[in-house]
Amino acid sequence: MSTTVFSQLDRSLHEHLAALVRLAATGDDRTAVELARSELPRVVTAVKALLDEHTPDEHGRCPTCRTRRWSRRLPSPCRAYLGAQLALTVGGDGRSDGHHGHLRDAG
Ligand SMILES: [Zn+2]
Repeated sequence: MSTTVFSQLDRSLHEHLAALVRLAATGDDRTAVELARSELPRVVTAVKALLDEHTPDEHGRCPTCRTRRWSRRLPSPCRAYLGAQLALTVGGDGRSDGHHGHLRDAG
């Protein structure tokens, strides 16, 4: 398979996300604010749409991943859901300072 429409979409998506991160990190305050206002809702919408498909039911099973033939037991919740959860909750909001401290070593 060479370059498909999907791989182009996928690539431009990743480039878009990388650009967001770069702008948020390196842009001035005004850029960051505009970025948050214009792009953050879209990112949230995208994440929600994904989570919606991967929200585990009461047994911890993912309705989307369940259709594949995984082995006997499914991880609960599914990895897509868990990954998003961890990415959003760990690292971002780990502290109770109320400060948006990014858990990155600043050089
Ligand atoms: Zn899933």
